[in-house]
Amino acid sequence: MAKLDFSAINKSAANSFNEQRNLIKKIGRGETVLCATCQRPLKLSVSVTSEVGVSCEKGCTGISLELED
Ligand SMILES: [Zn+2]
Repeated sequence: MAKLDFSAINKSAANSFNEQRNLIKKIGRGETVLCATCQRPLKLSVSVTSEVGVSCEKGCTGISLELED
């Protein structure tokens, strides 16, 4: 029985996407998440286009994701 293995395909991209989603969820719940680079708290911002952005004071972390719902 053939088994498809997608584990090598876009694994890192998927992981980082999930990580980013989790990070945004955490901050959305009011948890403090620190920037991996400067160790300052990340801040959440939501734009009018339903895009959620997370960034730190110094700007070394800058993530933006579109919300699904
Ligand atoms: Zn930073």
